[in-house]
This record gives sequence, C-alpha cells and structure tokens, in this order.
Amino acid sequence: MKKQKVRHKTILIPWFTDFLSPLIPAIAELAGYKFVNCPKTSKTSAEIGLKYGNNEVCYPATLVLGDLIAELQTGKYDLHNVAVAITQTGGQCRATNYLALIKQGLKNAGLGHIPTIAVALGGVYQNKQKDFKLPVFKIFNIVLHAFFFGDILNQIFSAAVVREKEKGKSQQLFDFYMDEARKIVLENKSKKFFQLLENAVNDFNSLKIEDKKLEKVGLIGEIFVKYNSYGQAHITNWLRGQGIEVETPPMTSFFMQAFINQAVNRKNGINRISRLMLNWFPLFYRVLNNRLKKFEKIAQPSRFYHPHEDIFEIAGHAKKIIDLANQFGEGWLLAGEVAGFAQRGINRIVCIQPFGCIANHIVAKGIERRLKQFYPETNLLYLDIDGGMAEVNLHNRLHFLIR
Ligand code: SF4
Repeated sequence: MKKQKVRHKTILIPWFTDFLSPLIPAIAELAGYKFVNCPKTSKTSAEIGLKYGNNEVCYPATLVLGDLIAELQTGKYDLHNVAVAITQTGGQCRATNYLALIKQGLKNAGLGHIPTIAVALGGVYQNKQKDFKLPVFKIFNIVLHAFFFGDILNQIFSAAVVREKEKGKSQQLFDFYMDEARKIVLENKSKKFFQLLENAVNDFNSLKIEDKKLEKVGLIGEIFVKYNSYGQAHITNWLRGQGIEVETPPMTSFFMQAFINQAVNRKNGINRISRLMLNWFPLFYRVLNNRLKKFEKIAQPSRFYHPHEDIFEIAGHAKKIIDLANQFGEGWLLAGEVAGFAQRGINRIVCIQPFGCIANHIVAKGIERRLKQFYPETNLLYLDIDGGMAEVNLHNRLHFLIR
C-alpha cells in the first residue's frame, strides 16, 4: 500500500454505536482520509459473517466481518480503490486478532486483495500499514471532546427517552446534536463541544416527561454487543418498551481502565513500560480526568445525567471481588460496574456475553458466586448472544428478571 493510494481510497468501517459511529467519517476527514460507515449492523451482517468467517470466533468478530463484506458486495464501490478498517484496542483477548480474522474472511469471499487497516491512536499490532498514519496531535483534542460529548449525550438520551411524553422527541434531539457534533469535528473546534453540551442539556431539560419513578436495569457486558443495538439483540429497546430505564455504564470507563492496568501489569512483571512512561501516566490521567470533569460539570444541571464513578473508585470495588490482573475482555471492570450499580440500589443487572467470548465468561459468569457474597440483593442475568439465537428466548428470560 502506498500512502498516496490509501489517502485516495474509500475506507469502509463497520458500524459500532449510535453515539460515536456518526462522528468517525468526520474525524477521518480531518485526518485526511475518506471513511464511510457501513450501514447499521443487521441480520445480514451475522449471516454473511458466518458464511465467510470462522464460525468459532467471537460473535462481534462475525458481525464486523459481515458488515464489511455485505457492504463490499453491494456493488457501490470500485473494489480496486477501497480498503477496510477497524479500530484496534489491543489487549488480552481476541480483539487483537480481528485483523487476521478479517483478512481471512475477505480472502474467503474473493476480496483478499482489499487492504485492511487498524485504526489506533497508539501502536498497531499484526499489520504493516506504514502509509496509514493518524495525525495524533492534530486530532487528539477533537477526538477526546467528541468522545466525551457522545458518551454523555447517550447517557442523557437513555434516561430521557423512557420518560418522554411526546414519542420520538428525545430521538430527534439526539440526532440533531449528533449532527451538530459532526459539524464541530469538521471545523476542528474542540472547545465548541462545551457549548454544544450545554445546549443539549437545556433542550433535554425542556422535554415534557412523565412524572413517575421508573424501575432500573443495569446493562453490562462485552463492549461491542453492549453498545451495538443489533449486537445486543435490541434488548435495551425491548426493556424500555416494558417501561424500564436501562442504565449502561459510560464507555469512558472502558478506556480509563488503562491507567490502572499499566500499573498493575508493571507490578506483576508482565509489561515492559519504562519508569519514565510510568511517571507520565498519572499526568496524562489528570489531563483526561480534568477534561472529563469539565464536561460533567456542564452536564450537572441535567435532569437526566448521573455522574459516574472515577475509574480508581471502580477498581477499588472490583479488587475486592477479582484480581486486577484479569484484564481480558472487559476484565475487572465488570465486577466494578456490578458493585457500582449495587451500591446505588440498582439490583437487577443484565450481563451480555457474546458467543465465543471466553474472556467475558470468566470475568463475568465466573465471578457470580463471589459477587453474590458481597451483594446478595443483586439479581444477575447472564445472556448469551449469537447469530442464531431466538429473541423470544431472551425476552422470556428478561421477563423473569423484571417481573
Ligand atoms: S471481549 Fe470477547 S467478544 Fe470481545 S473481542 Fe474479546 S473475546 Fe471477542
């Protein structure tokens, strides 16, 4: 791949979640690349992913592969001027191997010549892509602010949509603000996100809502299926339809756990991070956390926003249950999130586990008994999700949880 060529290619990226995916093409444009989102994940994604992928891999990998191949097969793209991309977080589970899985899947579909790109702000594993480089310093602030904005907007929307008197109003506001966010990204004016959030808070505060106390369900589990509507078999919408408020922890915690993990790994002798870097991490944490606090302060007057615990507090809860060296999948975060919900009196918790995800089976189902010792009131429902499941079975089990 030559740099020049990649810059001129259309780069397809799978749909992830409604509060971040719409902003990805704008961020990429700022970075000098043309990204196009695949349509939202659907049954077709699962079918095509199973057809061309290894059907023993974890379910999110199947969906991501299916999204990409389905879009490539539409005939909309010049197959010699297109590439595919996925975000890469790395870590101790199969997420690190998605690139290899996608390359094999593309090959199986007769599309093996299409370049595959890993999108990461840090290092990239298993891929030679010297000509794809993100201008990190140029986009860092805008990515950070867009991420905090989307994450908080999603929290506000989730609490508002289940209370709104005029059906569809919250969704309209959500879509409007995501579109405004997209424009700000293109302008690369990160500070404008503060004002945008303030406007969003005010607009959501003026929605007409039902004045009643709602039952809450906490939703935790693997990151892709939790935040992707099809990946989680639309159970959030189903629960809302039953008059239940669904609270999903902010995605911010997933990334902030890196600040705990690097120190734990160094102590355990399983990473080679230098002492210099180790000293730099707390500073970086403070910068990010201060920025997050600024967004949270703006969100404070919201009738719908509930500020979330700092990652160090979450880790403090988690380490009573599970060693913090457990970092595969969502790692110890799941234990910390259950504890956080339990302490706020949210005792009904659904944990979504994708087919093939040994990582999250261990750090979720595997610690059930211990969680129950600490939080006996908690009612945990583990739902396994895969490409061939019957939604009626999921709903049946959810009925038992909420009745
Ligand atoms: S957490 Fe589980 S489902 Fe997600 S990428 Fe890792 S192994 Fe796959």
